[in-house]
Amino acid sequence: MTVPEEIDSLNQRAHTLYREKSAEAQALAEEACALSVRIGYRQGYLHGLINHGRALTLQGGYQEAIPLFAHALSLAEESKLSAIVADALQEIARAHFAVAEYDEALQYWSRCLDVSHSAQAHDAWLRALIGLGQIYNAHGDFTSALAHHRWALNSWKEGDDPTLYVAAAINVGVDLYQQQRLDEALEILAQTRSANSEQKAEIHSILGLIHLAKGCMAQAEQELRAALDINRAQGNALGYATNLLSLGRLAMARGEYDAAQSLLEKALEKANTMGTPHLLLQIELALAESHEARSEWQQALCHFKRYHEQQLLLSRHTSPHRIQAMEMQLEVEKARMENAQLRRKHASERQERRRVERMASEDTLTGLLNRRGMELSADSLLALANDPVCALMIDVDHFKATNDTWGHEIGDKVLRQIGALLKSGCRQGDLVARWGGEEFAVLLQNRDGAQGAEVAERLRRLVQEWTWERIAPGLAATISVGVAQYHVDSDLAGVIQCADEKLYEAKRTGRNKVVFREAVHHRVAMS
Ligand code: GH3
Ligand code: MG
Ligand code: MG
Repeated sequence: MTVPEEIDSLNQRAHTLYREKSAEAQALAEEACALSVRIGYRQGYLHGLINHGRALTLQGGYQEAIPLFAHALSLAEESKLSAIVADALQEIARAHFAVAEYDEALQYWSRCLDVSHSAQAHDAWLRALIGLGQIYNAHGDFTSALAHHRWALNSWKEGDDPTLYVAAAINVGVDLYQQQRLDEALEILAQTRSANSEQKAEIHSILGLIHLAKGCMAQAEQELRAALDINRAQGNALGYATNLLSLGRLAMARGEYDAAQSLLEKALEKANTMGTPHLLLQIELALAESHEARSEWQQALCHFKRYHEQQLLLSRHTSPHRIQAMEMQLEVEKARMENAQLRRKHASERQERRRVERMASEDTLTGLLNRRGMELSADSLLALANDPVCALMIDVDHFKATNDTWGHEIGDKVLRQIGALLKSGCRQGDLVARWGGEEFAVLLQNRDGAQGAEVAERLRRLVQEWTWERIAPGLAATISVGVAQYHVDSDLAGVIQCADEKLYEAKRTGRNKVVFREAVHHRVAMS
């Protein structure tokens, strides 16, 4: 009996292997799919499909891989597995990109940005950003390509997939190389650590081209051979054919046309099996030039003709109209991403503002409202009050003595505990604040003075009866409370002052008691 864990481990192995040994990875992925179907394990099936597709693309089988990814995509969407959706979108975009179907690639990378943004899949978001930069690059807009790739590089943070940092850096290097900024390119490529084997080959390849452009033939050959070896060992068809082309160009630069010829023929043979028009185009051109240099006019002409055929084919993907439409879409995409970045910035500023506001209205010792917080909240509570509202002013008895006897720290604990007791003795909509020092204020909703006095008495008892020995042996604490009823023509300051007068009376007449005056309080200014 197969269990999901076994399928997961097959997929895991396929995933780690597909760059090194794509054929083996493909077999593992196919097995994972078959077993998943048998036991009805959807996630295993979807990962299997994607791994199978990845192995195929590495062998140059883009057209076979796309339907696999598309199938995985629709099933993952159906099951709302957003991480797999993002993966599938990414792979489809990459496959289209490889065969120069740029507007399809753009479409899928855009969707991938959306999905990864809402699923908070930062890795997938970075991959899509890198992909969009590659579309710019393929259209010769190296400045925009560089901007996107630098953005990806700068957005990478600790905890993201480290190979994504490398991917962004390689792309920045390529963009710089294409702008002939060779030394800057070398500098950024020197930062690529923790590259996977596919990326190592890419780095060697681009280094080879940079050295070739600088005229350092021996170094160029060394890098290109290293890339070729890795790509051959891994069965990376596109990488391998691209390296053969570069080595052919290198041989031509040295005037070794026989060697160039055979390298380019081999590259052509590989590229023909993959349907990658960009590569074919460049190989045909190189072959034409090589024959021309040897005055083999017939062959040269033949390759020039094929070069033009390929260019025509490619121009179907990149007709002026299509390019224009795509550039517009890219602009929209750019604006959208910049907006998203702004939104994120604003959201964090808003959060910061809220934090500052909360801090400004909160008492740090007790976590209750502070006086300012009470004043702010009381406005809306009093404005809405149709029913009576009642204010309590509360002061801890002989608190100075508590501090003197037990120390300030114990004093703080007492204040914190009294705050908690007051809060727990009130209802949700009531406002409880530390008014300052060892004084507290409470606003009770829907209570008249008599009801307020009952609440106050309950609070007084809660404090008196709490087991203060838990804080320190021999410790005790009591409170005195003044109660006043809010009247529509009074304000917060007025009702607090009235409650404060009653508190003073409680203190004068013995402490640890509640004093409440029935008389209606009028606005201070009027009395
Ligand atoms: P009464 O019963 O008349 O209110 O006497 P009392 O000692 O409580 O009143 P008094 O106003 O003389 O002393 C209040 C004390 O509260 C003095 C001050 O050091 C202390 N206090 C004020 N704020 C804090 C605080 O945040 N932490 C601590 N530990 N003590 C505080
Ligand atoms: Mg006091
Ligand atoms: Mg006191």
